[in-house]
Amino acid sequence: MNAKVWLVGAGPGDPELLTLKAVRALGQAQVVMIDDLVNPAILAHCPQARVIAVGKRGGCRSTPQAFIQRLMLRHARQGRCVVRLKGGDPCIFGRAGEEALWLRGHGIEVEVVNGITAGLAGATQCDIPLTLRGVSRGVTLLTAHTQDDSELNWQALAQGGTTLVLYMGVARLEQIRRGLLQGGMAPGTPVAMIENASLPQQRECRSHLAALEEDALAFGLRSPAILVIGEVVGAVQAGIERFRALAG
Ligand code: SAH
Repeated sequence: MNAKVWLVGAGPGDPELLTLKAVRALGQAQVVMIDDLVNPAILAHCPQARVIAVGKRGGCRSTPQAFIQRLMLRHARQGRCVVRLKGGDPCIFGRAGEEALWLRGHGIEVEVVNGITAGLAGATQCDIPLTLRGVSRGVTLLTAHTQDDSELNWQALAQGGTTLVLYMGVARLEQIRRGLLQGGMAPGTPVAMIENASLPQQRECRSHLAALEEDALAFGLRSPAILVIGEVVGAVQAGIERFRALAG
């Protein structure tokens, strides 16, 4: 087998949401480098591999990105098949783009394997269709956390008519609420905050834009969590109630 680096999405947490391709890559790996949002149960697919934890949650003890990249390069150059296992999808706030570019620039073969991103899984687990005919014509995935702390274009987001799915937002609820309200979003816009999506300890807090921080505080919202903002939140429940009223 050729030396290669696979950048693999481990999905949001539920091991059954792994792709067959991810399982195949794990089965071939000699080295698996695992991020800290990956459910360790997934390692059952690579008992033969050497596992290296390279987690780097914001604010915690972390392995620098440059070190992780050099480590992948070293193992690949020694002829090993390396899997870099990342939470969710490797291309959604997962740095797969820059890692693939860097590794290919060093002559290493790279293959990226999709995973189910936390935003999609979280919404689905909570019965929220991110697009819905007549309600939402699209979905915008975004992070509240930027390297340079630059502001998002809140007005465009508030008025764009798409469902918003925010990653890494737990520490920035005030900024999100203020930005969207100033951008023109209705204060009553429904919000779902979904913690540990797809895991047994998943929790969900329903709120609305104007009450974001106080509801999150009362709920004790903690990372990892995603926020889903838009009229699709609660739309299924409202539809069922309407149907029952009509039927009854
Ligand atoms: N590549 C990942 C995202 C990494 S950024 C993906 O596609 O899902 C890390 C952020 O993802 C967290 O701060 C949180 O907002 C979100 N996240 C990851 N796993 C999650 C989970 N199981 N439940 C809720 N949010 C999650």
